[in-house]
Amino acid sequence: MHNGHPGNRENDEGTTEEVTRRKCADCAKAFGPGEAQILWRGRSVKTELAIRCLPCEEARLEKLGAACANCGGPIFPHTQVSVMVGLGGARQVAHSTFECSPAGGAFYGYWGEGKLESSYERIEQC
Ligand SMILES: [Zn+2]
Ligand SMILES: [Zn+2]
Repeated sequence: MHNGHPGNRENDEGTTEEVTRRKCADCAKAFGPGEAQILWRGRSVKTELAIRCLPCEEARLEKLGAACANCGGPIFPHTQVSVMVGLGGARQVAHSTFECSPAGGAFYGYWGEGKLESSYERIEQC
């Protein structure tokens, strides 16, 4: 029984069933796209599920992602990053955000799948 908002048929569960189920690109299981929390190296990370289900997105980030050299947070595959060359020439990647990119001494780069695909254009210090 509904206790009735006239002219407004809402369902009592408070959830909409209109979320389109999609097939995961990796495991072919159905999943509901949208915002989700995945677990990455012990921290909860907000992400948007678009073409993969949650477990596959987790596995993909674990396998192909990187840790930000500045904040320690995850860098997702296919993301613009800042590249820093540390002592001994080791390259480190960081989020290309204002907070995570140091002024000067860094390159822009592109984090692909498990590796740095390109680094270019020295960030000018001015
Ligand atoms: Zn999947
Ligand atoms: Zn960061």
